[in-house]
Parts: sequence; C-alpha cells; structure tokens
Amino acid sequence: MHFGFDEKTQDLIGRLETFMDEVVHPAEPLAHEQMQAAIREDRWDPPAVLEELKAEARSRGLWNFFLPSAPEEGGLTNLQYAPLAEITGRSIQLAPSALNCAAPDTGNMEVLHMFGTPEQKQRWLRPLLDGQIRSAFAMTEPDVASSDATNIELSIVRDGDEYVINGRKWWITGAMNPNCRVFIVMGKTVPHSQGSREVPPPSAERHRQQSMILVERDTPGFEVVRGMHVLGYQDRDHGGHAELRFTDVRVPATNLIGAEGEGFAIAQARLGPGRIHHCMRSIGLAERALELMCKRVLSRTAFGKPIAQQGVVQDWIAEARVRLEQLRLLTLKTAWLMDTVGNRGAHTEIQAIKIATPQTVEWILDKAIQAHGAGGLSQDYPLAEMFAGIRTLRFADGPDEVHKASLARAELKKYR
Ligand SMILES: Cc1cc2nc3c(=O)[nH]c(=O)nc-3n(C[C@H](O)[C@H](O)[C@H](O)COP(=O)(O)OP(=O)(O)OC[C@H]3O[C@@H](n4cnc5c(N)ncnc54)[C@H](O)[C@@H]3O)c2cc1C
Repeated sequence: MHFGFDEKTQDLIGRLETFMDEVVHPAEPLAHEQMQAAIREDRWDPPAVLEELKAEARSRGLWNFFLPSAPEEGGLTNLQYAPLAEITGRSIQLAPSALNCAAPDTGNMEVLHMFGTPEQKQRWLRPLLDGQIRSAFAMTEPDVASSDATNIELSIVRDGDEYVINGRKWWITGAMNPNCRVFIVMGKTVPHSQGSREVPPPSAERHRQQSMILVERDTPGFEVVRGMHVLGYQDRDHGGHAELRFTDVRVPATNLIGAEGEGFAIAQARLGPGRIHHCMRSIGLAERALELMCKRVLSRTAFGKPIAQQGVVQDWIAEARVRLEQLRLLTLKTAWLMDTVGNRGAHTEIQAIKIATPQTVEWILDKAIQAHGAGGLSQDYPLAEMFAGIRTLRFADGPDEVHKASLARAELKKYR
C-alpha cells in the first residue's frame, strides 16, 4: 500500500496552496464585506471579488478538477482531486467556486456530461464548464418525505413537442442566485392514475416513474418563492436555498435528460461523487477550525496559565487530530475505490464517509467554539457559520438514518 500522491497531484497541491495564500485568503475580508452589503440590499448574487478569483484560478490551470471523465476539461481522478478539494475547504465560501468546483454545479455538470444530448451539452454544459452560469438541482418537495425519492410528486406531462410541469420544490441550493440559469428538475412522468399515493404502483416500477428535465430560469410559470434560512444563516455565498413553484411550466420535449423513467437512476449516479466531494472539503474546513482553536488557546490566559495548558483542551486537540486522520484515510480509500472499482463498488464506503464526516467535523467545530469562549458563537469568527453549514450535511444528499439503514442492510445480508 502506497500512501503518497502522484507527481501531478503533488504539483497541483503546491500550486493550489500558493493560490490560496496569494489570492484566496487575502480576498476573504473583502468578500465578507461584499456579502454583508448584499444582505443589507437583499441581493443574492455572489461577492463581486469571486469573478476575479475565478479568472486568476483558471489562468493558473486550477479549474474543473472534479470531473474524472473529462480530463480535457481539467478533470482529475477522485484520488487526485481529494487533497485539492480538502485545501479548498479551508476557504469554503470562496475557493470551491473560484475553481469552478462548487456544489451543486459539479453534480449537475456530471449529469449533463454523462447523460446530456449534444444540444443540451452545448447549451448548458459548456457555459457551466466555463463558469459563466450557475445551476441547481431540484428534487426535494415540501409536501412529501423526500428522503424517499419515490415520493416525489411534481408532475411532468407530455403534451405534443413539450412537457408541462406542475409542483413545488424547496431547499434548492443556489436558486436564489440570479445567475443560476438552469435547473435540473426531478418529477414524475408516470400519470398519477398509474403511480400515485392513492393507487400504489407495483414495487418493481417505483423507481421507474421519475424523470429529469431541464428548466431555464426565465420560463413562464417558474417562480422562486423565497430563500430558506439555515439555523438563521442564509448561505448567500452559494446562492441560498430556495422554495420554487412550477405552474404549467412548458419546456421543449428535448429538455428531458435521458429517457422517461430514468430519473431515479440518474439521481443515484449524481449523488455518489457529490457526497464524497462534501467530505473532502469538510476535512479542510475542520483543519482550519483546529488551527483556529490552537492559535486561540495559545494566545489566551485563564487562571494563571495559557488555556492551551489545560488538560481538557489538549484532549480536544489530540482527539481532533486523531479523528481527522481517520476521516482523511477513509475519504482517500473511498476515492481510490471509486477510481478503481467504480461508484457502485465503492457504495458502502461512500455511505460510511457520508455518515462519518459531518458527525466528526461537527464535534471538532463544537470544541473549537468552546475553546474560543462566547466569541466562538459570534459573527466575529467563522466557526458558528461553519457549524451551521456542516450540520446541514446530515440532511443534504439524504439523511444519515437512510444511509445507515442501507449500510446495515448490506452488512446483514452477508449473514443471512
Ligand atoms: C442545506 C441544504 C441544502 C439542500 N439542497 C438541496 C438541493 O439542492 N436540492 C434538493 O433537491 N434538495 C436539497 N436539500 C434537501 C435534502 O436533500 C432533504 O432535506 C433530504 O433528502 C431529506 O428529505 P426531507 O427533508 O423531506 O426529510 P424527510 O424525508 O421528511 O425525513 C425526515 C426524517 O425522517 C427520518 N427518516 C427518513 N427515512 C428514514 C429511514 N429510512 N430510516 C430512519 N429514519 C428515516 C430521518 O431522521 C429524516 O431526517 C437540501 C437540504 C439542506 C438542509
């Protein structure tokens, strides 16, 4: 077993660290100021400085790392991408977007790359890969338990050369950003009489009723109703999370991704890599929290000695390091499996890391906040907002409980 990164990755790590030190970290105060101004003016566009960061990242060849199947666009293997995504997690509000490696666009680009028609690729994938527009993925609905995607009720009905879409969605990340130009919308193409809650379909067909379709922001009948708050934060840096309404929205039939009934399978393909990207970035975020904790406890004195000399604080620091190393190893193993045996072969590990990361990073953030005293809860330090962001990952891409149930099923199957 070899634990080193290949030469290409080492080179990119060095270049990315330089970019972070020279460009991203110095831009953080200005970005913060610009986001505060946007909040005052109720604007949802990203901080203006982001465009400068994007241009600089691209000119340095730090662009579109996330797409393993498109090396010609800059895509790397999952194992090569993992340490780079971790580095971007140290500046979670800026760096992933600066490198055009931010969710939910990465998953959407992957879907279009894998399943899009040449026309769909030309019209939406190309500008996404070039960082000119943003996109969203709309599956979750307020009226049904959406952790079970077969519950989805938004209807997509064929009418001649068009589909007509009706329904509601919420928690749609990125949708408040006016530059989010296109939505991948998941709904049911099976008529309700064949597959509704009143007349349950045969179970074999439950996963064949969903389809995915592209909807442009300006389409008549499409409405962004409101932005959702996350523990009081608005997540404006990545375009918020919106409630959407679709009222007789008509799109050309050519906007369908894949064939009718393939939506569930496409959603599964989309979520595999996305789940591990969150984990990679979260490790970087936790590293930054640990760094902040160490610096803070070295700089403050209580009861006659630096806080860093308290045994309990040393225990937190040591535990944080141990837990981070464990997380990183499982993330890298998962990435390696995805590269070698495919996403399906890495299914258990993807679930394991998706479960382990938010819990562990939450624990580290909690200790970092505690070590900061009350200031740690405030807007003067990034920790509270980081905590809110990480807490969401126990829901985003499916709640922990669903992943645990599925993982346990696979484990039990070995002994049946
Ligand atoms: C910050 C954020 C961003 C998001 N971004 C998007 C997005 O861009 N697009 C999108 O479509 N959605 C998005 N979501 C929604 C997210 O995917 C859903 O919240 C998630 O899938 C759960 O669906 P639900 O909220 O309807 O919970 P429900 O399905 O109502 O589940 C509620 C709870 O029931 C329990 N539960 C459910 N099933 C089981 C089970 N099998 N075993 C045990 N317990 C169970 C769990 O505790 C679960 O939390 C986002 C959510 C957040 C918080």
